[in-house]
Amino acid sequence: MTHYLFPPTPVFSLPVQGTDARFAVNRIFCVGRNYHAHAVEMGRPVDKSTMKPFYFNKSASTLVESGATVPYPCGTSNYHFEMELVVALGASGFRLQEADAARMIYGYAAGLDMTRRDLQLVARDQGRPWDLGKDFEKSAVCSTIVPRGNLGVLQAGAIALQVNGVPKQTADLSQLIWNIPELLADLSQYYHLQAGDLIYTGTPEGVGAVVTGDRITGQIAQVGEVQLTIGTPE
Ligand code: MN
Repeated sequence: MTHYLFPPTPVFSLPVQGTDARFAVNRIFCVGRNYHAHAVEMGRPVDKSTMKPFYFNKSASTLVESGATVPYPCGTSNYHFEMELVVALGASGFRLQEADAARMIYGYAAGLDMTRRDLQLVARDQGRPWDLGKDFEKSAVCSTIVPRGNLGVLQAGAIALQVNGVPKQTADLSQLIWNIPELLADLSQYYHLQAGDLIYTGTPEGVGAVVTGDRITGQIAQVGEVQLTIGTPE
């Protein structure tokens, strides 16, 4: 029996539709600029013929389950929502082919990549890491995971987000610049992917700021809904 100096960090996990067993989360990979219109609104258009996808990470400890109220975060005055399809991996894979995607996918979820946009843009423009803008407490919001079942490898479906019921983001998964098989094939050139890894696949256009009292709702067809309420500042 190992004795620790202080209690180890707990395992972070998410509920799964249709079972009491929970999905233990390993790593959270996030894809940057994966919808053309969002890349343009951020002032960084993407040319797939000459560019590759890029990634940043959030710690598993940043996870928040859908339905939560989170404090307006410290250190920002421009706190943004980003609605995203989350792919939950259920197998290990390294240097995958695109045809391996189906066996890698355990299921899907609706997620929010909450962002301190002011800090992210300062970091971006100074060539610094994005961690302060992206990898902060309670910044990875995620719905119940829906097992892949007969959804297969999702290629299309509506993705939408509202703030206080007002539509802000409306797009389709078919507009992903790099689709799920392409992302798995690329990311697995750099990492030994594992069951428990989550991939936030990027947000469509229409990102924007929220303030205390706002209620975010977002949906992905055939997957489900994610909800978040913004509380008072810490
Ligand atoms: Mn994002």
